[in-house]
Amino acid sequence: MVTRMRAPNPSPMTLDGTNGYIVRVGPGALVAIDPGIEDAAHINAFLDAARRAHAHFAAIFVTHGHPDHYPGALALRRATRAPIFAHRSATFGYDRPIDDGMRLTFEDTAFVALHAPGHAPDHLVFWLESERALFTGDVVIGTGTVVIAPPGGDMRVYVASLERLLRDYGHADVIYGGHGPAVRRPRVKLEEYIAHRRAREEQIITMLERAPATIPELVAAIYAEVSTALWPVAARQVLAYLIALEREGRVAAEPLARAPSAAEAALLDPDLGALADDAERALARAELGIGTAAEPLLCYSLVG
Ligand SMILES: [Zn+2]
Repeated sequence: MVTRMRAPNPSPMTLDGTNGYIVRVGPGALVAIDPGIEDAAHINAFLDAARRAHAHFAAIFVTHGHPDHYPGALALRRATRAPIFAHRSATFGYDRPIDDGMRLTFEDTAFVALHAPGHAPDHLVFWLESERALFTGDVVIGTGTVVIAPPGGDMRVYVASLERLLRDYGHADVIYGGHGPAVRRPRVKLEEYIAHRRAREEQIITMLERAPATIPELVAAIYAEVSTALWPVAARQVLAYLIALEREGRVAAEPLARAPSAAEAALLDPDLGALADDAERALARAELGIGTAAEPLLCYSLVG
């Protein structure tokens, strides 16, 4: 049995808030997945659920070390002493290092942990055999697409993770993502996600076939229909595609001789001071990878 516990952190980046989950794994045992942010009411909701179920938390799983997914795990561990399971490369304080393919067995059921990097290097997806369910964190979410932003995000690695999930777990009955509603047709969703990435990359290549372009120029053309408030996010996605193409020798980047205009600078390095609070700023930095280094204005062109 799976219960969704939504964290009280709605925002444009988190949709209705971060989804946590409680899974019953035995007569008196539960697993918590992504208890989200450190919020007393939210953590109490996990504790109340365990009390009502006459059960204890045998483990706390964390999908990845972004600030809307893991801090609640630390708080829930303090309250329950349950161990935190996270990928070996995670940088927050976990208890049990998890590697790809590890079977996590409990009294009544078992999970398989899958390393699924691309959105974040330490990302895990959990396969729950008894429910034929995938807990995908920010690899697949209920509505819209996921942000793949350098330096933590890698577009090629991300699509490879999606392809692996489609190949090995396309038969899943349900995807419980880190945000938004449950996905009832996992195969269709995974195929859509992969096709969407291919189409975006084709758009970028088509644009560059016409003329060399900067990221602000590519964003203005490709995301013309999207609110300009989201263009800084779009710019990070475009950068992720360009980094992949550059690495493969298909695109070359050259610094422009001029300094970026105010509009270009705002797009490439947005002022996070406009965000509501520290938590939102920390999340934007983690999800978008911005504010980590000043980047010159580059002009991209196709090679050959
Ligand atoms: Zn994330």
